[in-house]
Amino acid sequence: MFDRRSFLQSKLSLLFARKVPPATGSAPARDFVKELQLTRFINAAEPFTLLSGAPLPAEVAQAWQAMSVEPVRLEEVHNAAGKRLASLLGCEAAMVTAGAASALTLGTAACITRGNRELVHRLPDTAGMKNEVIIQKTHRYGYDHAVRNCGIRYVEVETVEELERAVNDRTAMMHFFNTNEPMGKIKAPEFAQLANKHRVPALNDIAADVPPVSNFTRSLKLGFDLVAVSGGKGICGPQSCGLLYGRADLVAAARMNASPNSDAIGRGQKVNKEEIVAMMVAIELYLKRDHEADWRQWEQRIERIAKQAKRVAGVTAEQFMPEIHYRVPHLRIRWDEAKVKATVKDIIRELRDGTPSIEVRSNTNEGLELGVWMLKPGEDAIVAQRVHQVLSAHRV
Ligand SMILES: *Cc1c(COP(=O)(O)O)cnc(C)c1O
Repeated sequence: MFDRRSFLQSKLSLLFARKVPPATGSAPARDFVKELQLTRFINAAEPFTLLSGAPLPAEVAQAWQAMSVEPVRLEEVHNAAGKRLASLLGCEAAMVTAGAASALTLGTAACITRGNRELVHRLPDTAGMKNEVIIQKTHRYGYDHAVRNCGIRYVEVETVEELERAVNDRTAMMHFFNTNEPMGKIKAPEFAQLANKHRVPALNDIAADVPPVSNFTRSLKLGFDLVAVSGGKGICGPQSCGLLYGRADLVAAARMNASPNSDAIGRGQKVNKEEIVAMMVAIELYLKRDHEADWRQWEQRIERIAKQAKRVAGVTAEQFMPEIHYRVPHLRIRWDEAKVKATVKDIIRELRDGTPSIEVRSNTNEGLELGVWMLKPGEDAIVAQRVHQVLSAHRV
């Protein structure tokens, strides 16, 4: 029945509801791309940081907007969202970081300081602390700067024997770069086992390696203590966010090294309430997605673009899949330069300089490589048409 009390309550909830700004997803009042004279482009590449990452789903943008006007205590948001994320990912603890790179810094700082406030204060001066990080030579990469930020020294190894000899009482952490697993002699399962055997915390950087969704938990099952992942790549969360998750004591130690603590190495990597909640919602959405349906859609896009491209004589097209990094179906187009007189570089440039501008993968050794998972609905048809046009123009 419709009584007076519930009537009042619904009136009240309406009042409160109106305080929240209108949901995004509706047309923006201002077109900032136009206003700032930015170049719109179609992302037929990857969720690269340089290309501002993945498009934010409406639910994530709405979460962001809703939280942005709520005064809350930041530690409380971190605690609550961290708890929800840990339960979603099936691990002890999790925290939202300012990207995977920040997760690397905070994870390393955690392994050095282990909850000791005096050590937190002293970083990146690590004199007298555990300040060595063991890594395989083939796993050194640009992002290891985020680990070196903590004042550590990398100890490079190649074999199991070398690794076991490298462990000593100054070893703070063992670092694994998931994408380069095939390049190192020591694979992830053995690396984690060795870390556990020597009681050294092991961190796996899987930043760009979701999907598959199973990669969220693979590292933990293997015995890694911490995992770093990007929020704004395949997960389509905020580009400025990532996650650090795994062992509770280490995540707690990472929190001590992070904002809102002011005297901490991670203070410059602040994430605010709206980012934390938006990242949490992105994970909720991602875990609920029909990943097989996504996959079928990507294959359909590839088929559409490939079919058009192959109408040009001398052009072949094939689906391919990167082994670990961005492990989703991609398209590779090649041509006989006797029939289409252009280099891959020429075609990349012409697609970029054309209207609309199209970004593709910049790898030029193997042919023209396109990612299709960042395309918005309808853009596959435009890409198909443009690729056909550009290749046709070079027919001899
Ligand atoms: C992208 C990437 C990072 C950095 O991730 P952000 O979320 O942009 O900070 C770190 N490591 C690897 C392997 C990456 O691919």
